[in-house]
Amino acid sequence: MTAPVASATSDALLGVYRRAPMEFVRGSGVELFDETGKAYLDFVAGIAVNALGYGDAGLEAAMRDGMESGILHVSNLYRTLPGERLSEKLVERTFADRVFFCNSGAEANEGAFKIARRWARSTGGAAKHEIIALRGGFHGRLFGTLAATDRPSYRAPFRPLAGGISIVERDLAELDAVLNPETVAAVIVEPVQGEGGVRVLDHAFLRALREMTRTRGIALILDEIQCGYGRTGSFFAYEQIGIEPDMLTTAKPMAGGLPMGAILVTEALASTMQPGDHGTTFGGGPFLSTVALHVFDRLSDPALLQQVKDNGAWLGSALNALAGRSEKVRAVRGTGYMWGIDIVDPAKDVIGRALDLGLLLCSAGEHTLRLLPPLVMGRTDLERGVALMEQAIG
Ligand code: PLP
Repeated sequence: MTAPVASATSDALLGVYRRAPMEFVRGSGVELFDETGKAYLDFVAGIAVNALGYGDAGLEAAMRDGMESGILHVSNLYRTLPGERLSEKLVERTFADRVFFCNSGAEANEGAFKIARRWARSTGGAAKHEIIALRGGFHGRLFGTLAATDRPSYRAPFRPLAGGISIVERDLAELDAVLNPETVAAVIVEPVQGEGGVRVLDHAFLRALREMTRTRGIALILDEIQCGYGRTGSFFAYEQIGIEPDMLTTAKPMAGGLPMGAILVTEALASTMQPGDHGTTFGGGPFLSTVALHVFDRLSDPALLQQVKDNGAWLGSALNALAGRSEKVRAVRGTGYMWGIDIVDPAKDVIGRALDLGLLLCSAGEHTLRLLPPLVMGRTDLERGVALMEQAIG
Protein backbone atom coordinates (compact mmCIF):
# COMPACT_ATOMS: atom_id res chain seq x y z
CA MET A 1 0.00 0.00 0.00
CA THR A 2 1.37 3.46 -0.87
CA ALA A 3 1.09 6.47 1.45
CA PRO A 4 -2.22 8.36 1.16
CA VAL A 5 -2.08 11.26 -1.28
CA ALA A 6 -4.08 14.33 -0.31
CA SER A 7 -4.80 15.38 -3.86
CA ALA A 8 -7.62 15.08 -6.36
CA THR A 9 -5.10 13.70 -8.85
CA SER A 10 -4.32 10.65 -6.71
CA ASP A 11 -3.21 7.65 -8.72
CA ALA A 12 -4.98 5.42 -6.21
CA LEU A 13 -8.36 6.10 -7.87
CA LEU A 14 -9.51 3.72 -10.60
CA GLY A 15 -8.82 5.49 -13.87
CA VAL A 16 -12.34 5.53 -15.30
CA TYR A 17 -12.66 9.33 -15.48
CA ARG A 18 -10.71 11.97 -17.36
CA ARG A 19 -10.80 14.56 -14.61
CA ALA A 20 -10.31 18.28 -15.06
CA PRO A 21 -7.03 19.45 -13.52
CA MET A 22 -8.28 21.81 -10.80
CA GLU A 23 -9.54 20.72 -7.39
CA PHE A 24 -12.78 22.08 -5.99
CA VAL A 25 -12.60 23.05 -2.35
CA ARG A 26 -15.72 25.15 -1.78
CA GLY A 27 -19.14 25.98 -3.22
CA SER A 28 -21.50 28.88 -2.72
CA GLY A 29 -24.78 29.61 -4.50
CA VAL A 30 -24.24 28.64 -8.14
CA GLU A 31 -20.43 28.83 -8.07
CA LEU A 32 -17.62 26.46 -7.19
CA PHE A 33 -14.13 27.58 -6.10
CA ASP A 34 -10.84 25.81 -6.76
CA GLU A 35 -7.78 25.60 -4.52
CA THR A 36 -6.45 28.91 -5.86
CA GLY A 37 -9.70 30.71 -5.05
CA LYS A 38 -10.81 30.95 -8.71
CA ALA A 39 -14.62 30.94 -9.12
CA TYR A 40 -16.45 28.78 -11.69
CA LEU A 41 -20.06 29.44 -12.67
CA ASP A 42 -21.68 26.01 -12.61
CA PHE A 43 -23.65 24.92 -15.69
CA VAL A 44 -23.17 21.24 -14.79
CA ALA A 45 -24.61 20.98 -11.24
CA GLY A 46 -22.84 17.67 -10.61
CA ILE A 47 -24.59 16.35 -13.77
CA ALA A 48 -28.12 17.44 -12.81
CA VAL A 49 -27.70 16.62 -9.11
CA ASN A 50 -27.09 19.96 -7.37
CA ALA A 51 -30.45 21.52 -8.21
CA LEU A 52 -30.25 23.70 -5.09
CA GLY A 53 -26.69 24.83 -5.78
CA TYR A 54 -24.12 25.03 -2.96
CA GLY A 55 -24.30 26.01 0.69
CA ASP A 56 -28.10 26.03 0.66
CA ALA A 57 -29.37 26.98 4.13
CA GLY A 58 -32.51 24.81 3.89
CA LEU A 59 -30.51 21.77 2.88
CA GLU A 60 -28.07 22.32 5.73
CA ALA A 61 -30.95 22.61 8.21
CA ALA A 62 -32.49 19.39 6.84
CA MET A 63 -29.17 17.61 7.33
CA ARG A 64 -29.02 18.82 10.94
CA ASP A 65 -32.62 17.59 11.45
CA GLY A 66 -31.63 14.26 9.93
CA MET A 67 -28.86 13.84 12.47
CA GLU A 68 -30.94 14.76 15.50
CA SER A 69 -32.28 11.28 16.18
CA GLY A 70 -28.74 9.86 16.17
CA ILE A 71 -29.90 7.29 13.59
CA LEU A 72 -28.34 7.58 10.17
CA HIS A 73 -29.27 4.03 9.25
CA VAL A 74 -31.15 1.10 10.76
CA SER A 75 -31.78 -1.26 7.77
CA ASN A 76 -34.96 -1.88 5.85
CA LEU A 77 -35.77 -4.65 8.31
CA TYR A 78 -37.29 -1.94 10.49
CA ARG A 79 -39.73 0.94 10.01
CA THR A 80 -38.53 4.54 9.99
CA LEU A 81 -40.79 7.52 9.44
CA PRO A 82 -38.89 9.83 7.03
CA GLY A 83 -38.79 7.27 4.18
CA GLU A 84 -42.45 6.41 4.71
CA ARG A 85 -43.38 10.10 4.60
CA LEU A 86 -41.35 10.64 1.44
CA SER A 87 -42.98 7.65 -0.26
CA GLU A 88 -46.41 9.04 0.66
CA LYS A 89 -45.52 12.45 -0.77
CA LEU A 90 -44.31 10.90 -4.02
CA VAL A 91 -47.44 8.78 -4.29
CA GLU A 92 -49.66 11.81 -3.62
CA ARG A 93 -47.82 13.89 -6.25
CA THR A 94 -47.66 11.29 -9.06
CA PHE A 95 -49.28 8.38 -10.90
CA ALA A 96 -47.61 5.90 -8.55
CA ASP A 97 -49.05 3.75 -5.76
CA ARG A 98 -45.76 2.42 -4.36
CA VAL A 99 -42.16 3.53 -4.08
CA PHE A 100 -38.91 1.61 -3.69
CA PHE A 101 -35.85 3.59 -2.57
CA CYS A 102 -32.34 2.75 -3.71
CA ASN A 103 -29.00 4.49 -4.08
CA SER A 104 -28.46 5.58 -7.69
CA GLY A 105 -30.05 5.93 -11.09
CA ALA A 106 -28.68 2.72 -12.56
CA GLU A 107 -29.85 0.86 -9.47
CA ALA A 108 -33.35 2.29 -9.88
CA ASN A 109 -33.44 1.06 -13.49
CA GLU A 110 -32.08 -2.38 -12.56
CA GLY A 111 -34.87 -2.67 -10.00
CA ALA A 112 -37.46 -1.47 -12.51
CA PHE A 113 -36.35 -4.20 -14.94
CA LYS A 114 -36.82 -6.79 -12.20
CA ILE A 115 -40.29 -5.49 -11.31
CA ALA A 116 -41.26 -5.48 -15.01
CA ARG A 117 -40.14 -9.10 -15.37
CA ARG A 118 -41.85 -10.21 -12.17
CA TRP A 119 -45.11 -8.63 -13.28
CA ALA A 120 -44.82 -9.83 -16.90
CA ARG A 121 -44.20 -13.40 -15.77
CA SER A 122 -47.41 -13.24 -13.75
CA THR A 123 -49.41 -12.03 -16.76
CA GLY A 124 -47.68 -13.84 -19.65
CA GLY A 125 -45.39 -16.55 -18.30
CA ALA A 126 -41.61 -16.87 -18.57
CA ALA A 127 -41.49 -16.04 -22.31
CA LYS A 128 -42.67 -12.49 -21.57
CA HIS A 129 -39.39 -11.09 -20.30
CA GLU A 130 -37.77 -8.82 -22.89
CA ILE A 131 -36.88 -5.22 -22.11
CA ILE A 132 -36.79 -2.76 -25.01
CA ALA A 133 -34.79 0.48 -24.84
CA LEU A 134 -34.54 3.21 -27.47
CA ARG A 135 -31.79 4.48 -29.76
CA GLY A 136 -29.86 7.27 -28.02
CA GLY A 137 -30.97 6.19 -24.55
CA PHE A 138 -28.78 6.09 -21.45
CA HIS A 139 -29.96 4.08 -18.48
CA GLY A 140 -26.77 3.41 -16.51
CA ARG A 141 -23.64 1.31 -16.57
CA LEU A 142 -24.40 -1.57 -14.24
CA PHE A 143 -24.71 -5.02 -15.68
CA GLY A 144 -28.35 -4.97 -16.77
CA THR A 145 -28.62 -1.28 -17.53
CA LEU A 146 -25.51 -1.32 -19.74
CA ALA A 147 -27.43 -3.57 -22.13
CA ALA A 148 -30.11 -0.85 -22.34
CA THR A 149 -27.60 1.99 -22.79
CA ASP A 150 -26.95 2.94 -26.41
CA ARG A 151 -23.25 3.87 -26.30
CA PRO A 152 -21.14 1.43 -28.33
CA SER A 153 -17.91 2.45 -26.56
CA TYR A 154 -19.40 1.77 -23.12
CA ARG A 155 -20.78 -1.60 -24.24
CA ALA A 156 -18.06 -3.14 -26.38
CA PRO A 157 -15.48 -3.98 -23.67
CA PHE A 158 -18.05 -5.85 -21.60
CA ARG A 159 -19.76 -8.14 -24.09
CA PRO A 160 -21.63 -10.40 -23.80
CA LEU A 161 -24.09 -8.04 -22.15
CA ALA A 162 -27.07 -9.11 -20.05
CA GLY A 163 -29.60 -10.97 -22.19
CA GLY A 164 -33.20 -10.15 -23.01
CA ILE A 165 -32.56 -6.42 -23.43
CA SER A 166 -32.51 -4.79 -26.88
CA ILE A 167 -32.29 -1.34 -28.38
CA VAL A 168 -34.79 -0.25 -31.03
CA GLU A 169 -35.01 2.88 -33.22
CA ARG A 170 -37.18 5.78 -32.01
CA ASP A 171 -39.69 4.89 -34.67
CA LEU A 172 -43.31 3.82 -34.21
CA ALA A 173 -43.31 1.44 -37.19
CA GLU A 174 -40.25 -0.38 -35.82
CA LEU A 175 -41.70 -0.45 -32.34
CA ASP A 176 -44.98 -1.74 -33.72
CA ALA A 177 -43.10 -4.68 -35.24
CA VAL A 178 -40.99 -5.37 -32.15
CA LEU A 179 -43.52 -4.96 -29.33
CA ASN A 180 -44.84 -8.50 -29.21
CA PRO A 181 -47.13 -8.83 -26.18
CA GLU A 182 -46.11 -12.48 -25.73
CA THR A 183 -42.39 -11.76 -25.32
CA VAL A 184 -41.95 -8.12 -24.29
CA ALA A 185 -42.25 -7.17 -20.62
CA ALA A 186 -41.38 -3.48 -20.79
CA VAL A 187 -40.15 -0.50 -22.77
CA ILE A 188 -37.85 2.00 -21.06
CA VAL A 189 -37.53 5.57 -22.33
CA GLU A 190 -36.15 8.92 -21.22
CA PRO A 191 -38.71 11.61 -22.13
CA VAL A 192 -35.69 13.87 -22.65
CA GLN A 193 -32.61 11.86 -23.58
CA GLY A 194 -29.75 13.41 -21.62
CA GLU A 195 -26.45 11.65 -22.29
CA GLY A 196 -27.63 10.85 -25.82
CA GLY A 197 -27.41 14.50 -26.89
CA VAL A 198 -30.30 16.23 -25.03
CA ARG A 199 -33.12 15.10 -27.28
CA VAL A 200 -36.63 16.11 -26.25
CA LEU A 201 -38.66 13.17 -27.54
CA ASP A 202 -41.71 14.14 -29.54
CA HIS A 203 -44.80 14.20 -27.31
CA ALA A 204 -47.03 12.65 -29.97
CA PHE A 205 -44.49 9.81 -30.32
CA LEU A 206 -44.51 9.24 -26.55
CA ARG A 207 -48.32 9.30 -26.42
CA ALA A 208 -48.49 6.75 -29.25
CA LEU A 209 -45.90 4.59 -27.47
CA ARG A 210 -47.98 4.77 -24.29
CA GLU A 211 -51.06 3.66 -26.20
CA MET A 212 -49.18 0.85 -27.96
CA THR A 213 -47.74 -0.49 -24.70
CA ARG A 214 -51.04 -0.13 -22.84
CA THR A 215 -53.11 -2.01 -25.41
CA ARG A 216 -50.48 -4.79 -25.63
CA GLY A 217 -50.07 -5.27 -21.89
CA ILE A 218 -46.44 -4.08 -21.93
CA ALA A 219 -45.12 -1.93 -19.08
CA LEU A 220 -43.87 1.57 -19.89
CA ILE A 221 -40.95 2.69 -17.74
CA LEU A 222 -40.02 6.38 -17.87
CA ASP A 223 -36.42 7.06 -16.90
CA GLU A 224 -36.60 10.57 -15.42
CA ILE A 225 -33.29 10.27 -13.62
CA GLN A 226 -31.89 13.29 -15.46
CA CYS A 227 -34.99 15.09 -16.72
CA GLY A 228 -37.21 14.67 -13.63
CA TYR A 229 -37.50 16.51 -10.33
CA GLY A 230 -38.16 19.93 -11.85
CA ARG A 231 -35.50 20.08 -14.57
CA THR A 232 -37.97 20.57 -17.43
CA GLY A 233 -40.20 22.97 -15.50
CA SER A 234 -42.69 20.39 -14.25
CA PHE A 235 -41.95 18.09 -11.32
CA PHE A 236 -41.77 15.16 -13.71
CA ALA A 237 -41.47 15.58 -17.48
CA TYR A 238 -44.38 13.20 -18.17
CA GLU A 239 -46.80 15.74 -16.69
CA GLN A 240 -46.27 17.94 -19.78
CA ILE A 241 -46.81 15.04 -22.18
CA GLY A 242 -50.21 13.95 -20.94
CA ILE A 243 -49.29 10.30 -20.30
CA GLU A 244 -48.79 8.20 -17.20
CA PRO A 245 -46.23 5.41 -17.09
CA ASP A 246 -46.44 2.10 -15.22
CA MET A 247 -43.10 2.84 -13.60
CA LEU A 248 -40.79 5.81 -13.30
CA THR A 249 -37.21 5.96 -12.12
CA THR A 250 -35.62 8.98 -10.48
CA ALA A 251 -32.35 9.70 -8.68
CA LYS A 252 -29.82 12.50 -9.23
CA PRO A 253 -31.17 15.54 -7.27
CA MET A 254 -33.43 13.56 -4.92
CA ALA A 255 -31.36 14.00 -1.76
CA GLY A 256 -29.52 17.21 -2.57
CA GLY A 257 -26.24 15.53 -3.52
CA LEU A 258 -26.46 12.48 -1.26
CA PRO A 259 -26.88 9.20 -3.14
CA MET A 260 -30.53 8.28 -3.51
CA GLY A 261 -32.74 6.83 -6.23
CA ALA A 262 -36.31 5.60 -6.41
CA ILE A 263 -38.65 3.45 -8.43
CA LEU A 264 -42.23 4.73 -8.59
CA VAL A 265 -44.68 2.02 -9.59
CA THR A 266 -48.41 1.36 -9.98
CA GLU A 267 -50.20 -1.12 -7.75
CA ALA A 268 -50.81 -3.49 -10.67
CA LEU A 269 -47.08 -4.09 -11.03
CA ALA A 270 -46.12 -3.58 -7.38
CA SER A 271 -48.56 -6.21 -6.17
CA THR A 272 -46.57 -8.94 -7.91
CA MET A 273 -43.43 -8.20 -5.84
CA GLN A 274 -43.13 -10.33 -2.70
CA PRO A 275 -40.85 -10.03 0.35
CA GLY A 276 -37.37 -11.11 -0.74
CA ASP A 277 -37.89 -10.28 -4.44
CA HIS A 278 -35.71 -7.19 -4.22
CA GLY A 279 -33.76 -5.24 -1.65
CA THR A 280 -30.89 -2.92 -0.79
CA THR A 281 -29.04 -2.17 2.43
CA PHE A 282 -29.06 1.63 2.42
CA GLY A 283 -32.16 2.54 0.38
CA GLY A 284 -34.49 5.11 1.96
CA GLY A 285 -32.62 5.39 5.26
CA PRO A 286 -33.88 7.97 7.77
CA PHE A 287 -31.08 10.53 7.34
CA LEU A 288 -31.23 10.49 3.55
CA SER A 289 -35.01 10.59 3.55
CA THR A 290 -35.12 13.58 5.91
CA VAL A 291 -32.90 15.47 3.49
CA ALA A 292 -34.91 14.18 0.51
CA LEU A 293 -38.18 15.38 2.08
CA HIS A 294 -36.75 18.89 2.11
CA VAL A 295 -35.56 18.58 -1.50
CA PHE A 296 -38.99 17.26 -2.53
CA ASP A 297 -40.71 20.30 -1.01
CA ARG A 298 -38.31 22.72 -2.68
CA LEU A 299 -38.30 21.14 -6.15
CA SER A 300 -42.03 20.50 -6.31
CA ASP A 301 -42.76 24.12 -5.34
CA PRO A 302 -44.92 25.61 -8.15
CA ALA A 303 -43.04 28.93 -7.91
CA LEU A 304 -39.70 27.22 -8.55
CA LEU A 305 -41.14 25.14 -11.39
CA GLN A 306 -42.60 28.27 -13.03
CA GLN A 307 -39.22 29.98 -12.74
CA VAL A 308 -37.51 27.01 -14.44
CA LYS A 309 -40.11 27.14 -17.21
CA ASP A 310 -39.79 30.90 -17.75
CA ASN A 311 -36.01 31.11 -17.43
CA GLY A 312 -35.68 27.92 -19.49
CA ALA A 313 -37.68 29.49 -22.32
CA TRP A 314 -35.43 32.54 -22.13
CA LEU A 315 -32.32 30.30 -22.12
CA GLY A 316 -33.61 28.48 -25.20
CA SER A 317 -34.08 31.73 -27.10
CA ALA A 318 -30.67 33.02 -25.98
CA LEU A 319 -29.04 29.81 -27.23
CA ASN A 320 -30.91 29.94 -30.51
CA ALA A 321 -29.82 33.56 -30.94
CA LEU A 322 -26.24 32.43 -30.28
CA ALA A 323 -26.65 29.71 -32.91
CA GLY A 324 -27.83 32.39 -35.35
CA ARG A 325 -24.66 34.45 -34.71
CA SER A 326 -22.09 31.67 -34.59
CA GLU A 327 -20.97 29.49 -37.47
CA LYS A 328 -19.53 27.14 -34.87
CA VAL A 329 -22.98 26.15 -33.60
CA ARG A 330 -24.91 23.60 -35.63
CA ALA A 331 -28.05 22.98 -33.59
CA VAL A 332 -29.71 23.73 -30.24
CA ARG A 333 -32.08 21.33 -28.46
CA GLY A 334 -33.64 21.24 -25.04
CA THR A 335 -36.21 22.43 -22.56
CA GLY A 336 -36.26 23.97 -19.09
CA TYR A 337 -32.76 23.86 -17.55
CA MET A 338 -31.55 21.07 -19.86
CA TRP A 339 -29.97 22.06 -23.18
CA GLY A 340 -27.70 20.51 -25.78
CA ILE A 341 -25.68 22.50 -28.30
CA ASP A 342 -24.13 20.75 -31.30
CA ILE A 343 -20.87 22.43 -32.19
CA VAL A 344 -18.29 22.11 -34.95
CA ASP A 345 -15.27 21.81 -32.61
CA PRO A 346 -14.77 18.86 -30.26
CA ALA A 347 -16.83 19.49 -27.11
CA LYS A 348 -13.82 18.73 -24.90
CA ASP A 349 -11.88 21.67 -26.42
CA VAL A 350 -14.71 24.10 -25.71
CA ILE A 351 -15.17 22.67 -22.20
CA GLY A 352 -11.44 23.26 -21.58
CA ARG A 353 -11.61 26.86 -22.82
CA ALA A 354 -14.73 27.43 -20.68
CA LEU A 355 -12.82 26.21 -17.60
CA ASP A 356 -10.15 28.82 -18.25
CA LEU A 357 -12.92 31.43 -18.43
CA GLY A 358 -14.49 30.22 -15.16
CA LEU A 359 -17.48 28.29 -16.54
CA LEU A 360 -18.30 24.61 -16.02
CA LEU A 361 -19.86 22.81 -18.99
CA CYS A 362 -20.21 19.12 -19.76
CA SER A 363 -20.79 17.19 -22.96
CA ALA A 364 -23.36 14.78 -24.37
CA GLY A 365 -21.42 13.26 -27.26
CA GLU A 366 -18.17 14.33 -28.92
CA HIS A 367 -19.61 17.46 -30.54
CA THR A 368 -22.43 18.34 -28.15
CA LEU A 369 -22.20 20.66 -25.15
CA ARG A 370 -24.70 20.00 -22.38
CA LEU A 371 -26.04 22.66 -20.02
CA LEU A 372 -27.56 21.55 -16.71
CA PRO A 373 -27.49 24.59 -14.42
CA PRO A 374 -28.73 24.35 -10.82
CA LEU A 375 -32.50 24.93 -10.83
CA VAL A 376 -32.03 27.89 -8.48
CA MET A 377 -29.85 29.77 -10.99
CA GLY A 378 -31.37 33.17 -11.82
CA ARG A 379 -31.54 35.02 -15.14
CA THR A 380 -28.41 37.13 -14.51
CA ASP A 381 -26.19 34.10 -13.98
CA LEU A 382 -27.77 32.25 -16.91
CA GLU A 383 -26.99 35.28 -19.07
CA ARG A 384 -23.41 35.42 -17.75
CA GLY A 385 -22.97 31.71 -18.50
CA VAL A 386 -24.25 32.02 -22.07
CA ALA A 387 -21.85 34.93 -22.69
CA LEU A 388 -18.89 32.93 -21.32
CA MET A 389 -19.93 29.92 -23.37
CA GLU A 390 -20.08 32.02 -26.52
CA GLN A 391 -16.52 33.16 -25.82
CA ALA A 392 -15.43 29.55 -25.26
CA ILE A 393 -17.08 28.38 -28.49
CA GLY A 394 -15.13 31.14 -30.26
N1 PLP B 1 -30.54 7.22 -16.45
C1 PLP B 1 -30.30 8.45 -16.89
C2 PLP B 1 -31.29 9.10 -17.78
C3 PLP B 1 -29.13 9.11 -16.52
O1 PLP B 1 -28.89 10.35 -16.98
C4 PLP B 1 -28.23 8.47 -15.66
C5 PLP B 1 -26.95 9.11 -15.27
O2 PLP B 1 -26.47 10.01 -15.89
C6 PLP B 1 -28.53 7.17 -15.21
C7 PLP B 1 -29.69 6.57 -15.63
C8 PLP B 1 -27.59 6.45 -14.29
O3 PLP B 1 -27.61 7.06 -13.04
P1 PLP B 1 -26.41 6.80 -12.00
O4 PLP B 1 -25.19 7.43 -12.56
O5 PLP B 1 -26.89 7.45 -10.74
O6 PLP B 1 -26.29 5.32 -11.86
